[in-house]
Amino acid sequence: MGFSPSPNRLKPVGTYHGALMKERAALRRFERESSSLEPGASERKRLRKATFASAERFLRSLKHRPAYLDTEGKGRGLLDAPIGDDGLPLADVLALLEREVFEPGGNPASAGHLAYIPGGGIYHSALGDYLASVSNKYAGIFFTGPGPVRMENMLIRWTADLVGYPASAGGNIASGGSIANLAAIATARDAHGLKGADFARTVVYLTSQAHHCIDKALRIAGLGEVQTRYIPIDDSFRMIPSALEQAIAADRANGLRPWMIIAAAGTTDTGAVDPLDAIATIAERERCWFHVDAAYGGFFLLTDHGRQMLRGIERSDSVVLDPHKSLFLPWGSGMLLVRDVRPLAETHRYSGNYMQDALREPGEISPADVSPELTKPFRALRMWLPLIHLGVKPFRAALEEKLLLARYFHREVAKLGFAVGPDPDLSAVTFRWAPEGVALERANAVNEALVDAVRHDGRIFLSSTMLDGRFTLRMVALGFRTHRKTIDLTLKILRRELANVLG
Ligand SMILES: *Cc1c(COP(=O)(O)O)cnc(C)c1O
Repeated sequence: MGFSPSPNRLKPVGTYHGALMKERAALRRFERESSSLEPGASERKRLRKATFASAERFLRSLKHRPAYLDTEGKGRGLLDAPIGDDGLPLADVLALLEREVFEPGGNPASAGHLAYIPGGGIYHSALGDYLASVSNKYAGIFFTGPGPVRMENMLIRWTADLVGYPASAGGNIASGGSIANLAAIATARDAHGLKGADFARTVVYLTSQAHHCIDKALRIAGLGEVQTRYIPIDDSFRMIPSALEQAIAADRANGLRPWMIIAAAGTTDTGAVDPLDAIATIAERERCWFHVDAAYGGFFLLTDHGRQMLRGIERSDSVVLDPHKSLFLPWGSGMLLVRDVRPLAETHRYSGNYMQDALREPGEISPADVSPELTKPFRALRMWLPLIHLGVKPFRAALEEKLLLARYFHREVAKLGFAVGPDPDLSAVTFRWAPEGVALERANAVNEALVDAVRHDGRIFLSSTMLDGRFTLRMVALGFRTHRKTIDLTLKILRRELANVLG
């Protein structure tokens, strides 16, 4: 053992006094040399002023700052300022940040960021992050962080009510949808008692439109050998329930073990919402774990249209929603909800002698009890602060606006002569240049050149995907700064760049 009995008597040796003085001098020196870690009130004011001025420069420049910018160095200038023993003045540091980090690449804060699945990053959340970091309150365990833990549990309950889950529900605020989906899959694995010997005859059902993080999560959860059934989709890219039924019946007939059904409430490619209610009926009858990946579409539940589209989500066993998408938070927030918190806690159970004080304390469920994390950022504050201060109304209005903007764009881009995908289920629109009689290869090349040209212009950022071998452009209206003006600009740029590409 590393402990020795306390010395009850110090021997007064000749050099003892000298050694003590030396020790005191060293302590004074180290305290002085590390004092910049504890800036006083006036220094804090100076730091804050400079940092907030940088934030203001960024926010005020957003109107004319591109949604995508290709720079020569792509942030390489950061490497010219190595981290050394002595620091740089804050003004230089902020200039470096603004030039090398804020400038190059996509700008997810921009109204014109219509690529992938945007969100925006509301300012109130940034202030929440600031207070979370300044207080550094511990958010992993109720014993030491009762406030942060209650706050997280309150947000989980609020979201569970939105989904329509019963009182038994629980969950966790993770860093994003990928991690939240991983925790859901691990929970479903244990809840159904899957063991290594079962994997090869166990089946998971999803569609080709499932987010790639699902396949990644299955492998990370040790389930790489599980059979994956891609259920056919209809013309609107939604899972066909009767095809799901047939696949399950065929698997049962072959002695396989249907385990989990993963539906999407807003696919990443086209924003399609699978028919959740019909799938729930099948999942209940077949005793499959029913998971809904609503990372993109989840918070559209705040709107009437969203509630209709996502009907049946309340019958799922687990659901993932990304507040950093449809609740406009800055990147770094993904929520997992499980209808019954017990299997979630069972998958993440732990013990540790050093945890005995915390584990003795009864009280709220702690995030560490229901997630792989122990120490975690105080993520609840960035979600709670805007919701409690602004109320839900502005969020609902912003989401209603995105639904309308997508319909508007779908109609207007068709008028420009583009072939459009299905009516948007939520706020994503797919479209492509594909006049009749044009060969697929030629059309693909034109669409690819078009998405590059739009990005090169930079005011708007669109991304593309392949649908049935067709190069397709996507427009996702989800940023809270994206309004009618941005959509009109998008249409204008598309018309002009298409003419350029066609020469
Ligand atoms: C974005 C997204 C994910 C992944 O979430 P991250 O927060 O990026 O990790 C998963 N599923 C869907 C449907 C998504 O849109």
